[in-house]
Amino acid sequence: MKKKPPVKKGQQVELEIHSLNHDGEGVGRYQGFTIFVPDAVPGDTVNAKVISVQKSYARALLQSVITSSPTRIAPSCEHAAQCGGCQLQHLQYEEQLKLKQNIVSDTLKRIGGIDIPVLATMGMQDPWRYRNKAQVPVGLENGTVRAGFYEKRSHNIIDLKCCHIQHPANDNVVHTVRNILQQLSVPVYREREHKGLVRHILARTSFTTEEVLVAIVTNGRQLPKKQEVVQQLKDSIPNLCGIVQNINTRKGNTILGNEELTLLGRPWLREKLGNLHFHVSARSFFQVNPLQTEVLYNKALEYANLSGTETVFDLYCGIGTISLFLARKAAKVVGVESVEAAVHDARENANVNNIKNAEFHTGTAETVVPRLFKQGYHADVVVVDPPRKGCDEKLLATIAAMRPQRIVYVSCNPATLARDLKYLQQNGYNPIEAQPVDMFPHTSHVETVVLLERK
Ligand code: SAH
Repeated sequence: MKKKPPVKKGQQVELEIHSLNHDGEGVGRYQGFTIFVPDAVPGDTVNAKVISVQKSYARALLQSVITSSPTRIAPSCEHAAQCGGCQLQHLQYEEQLKLKQNIVSDTLKRIGGIDIPVLATMGMQDPWRYRNKAQVPVGLENGTVRAGFYEKRSHNIIDLKCCHIQHPANDNVVHTVRNILQQLSVPVYREREHKGLVRHILARTSFTTEEVLVAIVTNGRQLPKKQEVVQQLKDSIPNLCGIVQNINTRKGNTILGNEELTLLGRPWLREKLGNLHFHVSARSFFQVNPLQTEVLYNKALEYANLSGTETVFDLYCGIGTISLFLARKAAKVVGVESVEAAVHDARENANVNNIKNAEFHTGTAETVVPRLFKQGYHADVVVVDPPRKGCDEKLLATIAAMRPQRIVYVSCNPATLARDLKYLQQNGYNPIEAQPVDMFPHTSHVETVVLLERK
């Protein structure tokens, strides 16, 4: 029988932190029992208060640092202690990169039994102000409108003064919209009651064209004082290319609804990656770190190793960014994506760039790819870039049956990556190498590109 945990909720413990877990939380032991401490780093000795106890581990909140690790730094952000947005600001950037390499390497071994070279994480020279998108909740606190991130482990909104990982233009949009809502007394959403109106502010800024697109997400169609809101935004946001009202009347955490009204300009912004131009609409997925996106895509392109004669599948293609990167080096690219608006953008983007050898299909990869395979399509190289839950097994089985020479797997979740690599390894493919790329500095998230070759 397992021993009873040696700690209780509410207990104060002194711990030496020896490593970080996959969420970037410090890991210490108390009488041999594992305790996770967010905001603590390896080399720290800390006082922490236990907040929850499970069978094999507990979680404790940092109360004070008794001795500080040499890798600990003071976060540059005044909100770092409360904000749930960043998890690693108190850790030197070089150490963050090592942590991410370890997360990938450990997870591939532990979940997939896969032991391949995991290269050093490709990081940013200047890991600040890298985000092109802000998406923040709006709420009311004692009669004052708040807009910002959620506090850690809660849905209380921090009124964000400045976010150091955000493009300054996005910060400006958040402040401006908040001030306008306050000044014009536009009702804001009350999450607990599912009442009120404005629930989120979304801002997208292009690092290349500098256009700014604003979306105001509302719980209902009527937006009081609409004309004033639009006029004031027009007056205060430089390079504003459009304002949309996105309507989301559903309960829960999904931010965007399906209905959208254009209040000003156009409902998409112009973006540039490498020498390709893209239209990005508010609802389409677009990588949030444009500098690192080029690094990521170039790595995917390198692993695809195209000579110009290949047919390439780009699955989970979004607005066709990877597809168009590949199209100039391949005979033909076939993109598959489940969100119709994104496929619409993808086709438009192929046109904008005068690319004729890319076609796009709407539907889930797990239904479209088996259908295309039956129709006689073949692939020499397959690129997949699924959301966090990874690929459906039916899709992996079809890819294996298509027998491409190479598979390039782009992943934002090492755990599902490991699971899917294991399946592919058992079905004809050798994982060769993994390259972590830091798309999200100061957070515990990591993006990975893996090359697989047919056995
Ligand atoms: N490769 C793109 C998008 C990656 S994000 C880029 O780099 O920009 C993952 C994409 O997969 C999203 O656009 C999402 O809408 C889409 N998606 C989610 N589930 C899917 C499924 N089952 N089949 C196809 N596409 C899916």
